[in-house]
Amino acid sequence: MAITRTYMDWNATAPLSTAAREAVLRALDLPGNPSSVHGEGRAAKTMLENARRQVAALVGAEASHVVFTSGATEAANLVLSPVFRMGRTPLSIGRLYVSAIEHPALREGGRFPKDRVTEIPVTGAGVVDLNALRDLLAGHDAADGLPMVAVMLVNNETGIVQPAAEAARLVHARGGLMIVDAVQAASRLPIDIAALDADFLIVSSHKIGGPKGVGALVSRGEVLMPKPLIQGGGQEKGHRSGTENLAAIVGFGAAAAAALEDFSGRNATIGRLRARLEDGMRIAASDVLIHGLDETRVANTTFFTLPGLKAETGQIAFDLEGIALSAGAACSSGKVGESHVLTAMSKDPKLGALRISLGPTTTDDDIDRVLAAFQKIAGRRRPAGEAA
Ligand code: PLP
Repeated sequence: MAITRTYMDWNATAPLSTAAREAVLRALDLPGNPSSVHGEGRAAKTMLENARRQVAALVGAEASHVVFTSGATEAANLVLSPVFRMGRTPLSIGRLYVSAIEHPALREGGRFPKDRVTEIPVTGAGVVDLNALRDLLAGHDAADGLPMVAVMLVNNETGIVQPAAEAARLVHARGGLMIVDAVQAASRLPIDIAALDADFLIVSSHKIGGPKGVGALVSRGEVLMPKPLIQGGGQEKGHRSGTENLAAIVGFGAAAAAALEDFSGRNATIGRLRARLEDGMRIAASDVLIHGLDETRVANTTFFTLPGLKAETGQIAFDLEGIALSAGAACSSGKVGESHVLTAMSKDPKLGALRISLGPTTTDDDIDRVLAAFQKIAGRRRPAGEAA
């Protein structure tokens, strides 16, 4: 008998929503290129601009400030640049300060040489250390150029909300630029680029129910922009050349619009389901360690360690029970690496941790199935100290 599959890995990617799927199909049937001036081109352009408004609304920005890219990774590589332009005037950024728990898309430093990237530490509780950032910025040598700071709004492994707005105030006091990765916050927290005081936000379609391979760099204004990463025909006002991936962009727009519908109700339901899950986990295994319990988290993520269970073993065991979850972040090789987030939190990365992430279609039945598997897997762990 085939086992029921239960998808609990929404932070890795969210299943395509019905609204996004329908929008993608509509756009696929349009023959025109959005840059063409004829009727077919104009119809495609109308769809493109509608999607731009929808994505802008998700983060409280102006539509004209949205640059579509092939995903959050490309948006990060576009904006993490030592070379900017303020209108026609070049502006140089001397150093990038990037939090130790950023996604590799940002942690790699984009187009900055490695020796011009400094890591901002996080506290043992998994929160970016603002005192450390203040000290780093105080020591910044302005002769090299302005500082740039990148802090995510929500961590993808722990779900912990980060003090991005506070970090923005610190960097702006030094005249620098603030980049906020809002990939895991979108659809889970209300986002407003001005309230966050961010100069740039990064968002990704496939984390909110849109298609994979499309994202956006959203700017606060229009004048200050990074040197383009991809040059050519001048699409996206020259910030990202290449014919737009219209179907994916239109799907992204539909997902963004859907993410704003019943925002509070949806997140309250997800929060109730996660509370049931975490209560059940603690009853089944009193030694389970749920990371970030005392911090503000988005409603959908549980990051936990079961002592005596390696992350890799745990992930396979849950998979065999029909549950798709993840051991930290999904990594391209499919290998389970050590969590850089646990390491940054000064926890032994050998501890290993598993991540369960819920979404809008998660049900009580899903939670029942996860808890049944959890009980089974927790029950057959080796007692502490027993040799493997
Ligand atoms: N930033 C965060 C926090 C993420 O979780 C991810 C995806 O895992 C990315 C960036 C990269 O997004 P994309 O897959 O669109 O390149």
